[in-house]
Amino acid sequence: MDVRVGDVLTMKKSHPCGGNTFSVLRSGMDFRIKCLTCGHEVMVPRAKAEKNIKNITRNQPDSNNTKGDSNV
Ligand SMILES: [Zn+2]
Repeated sequence: MDVRVGDVLTMKKSHPCGGNTFSVLRSGMDFRIKCLTCGHEVMVPRAKAEKNIKNITRNQPDSNNTKGDSNV
């Protein structure tokens, strides 16, 4: 699954605050995500996070072009 910094993740399981949208601050073996409802930041193992993702929203016009991905 292709998750990048800046993406907004809609999760199947919501945060204790009730929100289910998170912005990605860091991706890699672990994701660092920030709850957009309460502002809390959490670290989640990639495998666990991916199971929970319902939808990914990307604010890039060129979303189907994978070239120029320098942040591996
Ligand atoms: Zn929250």
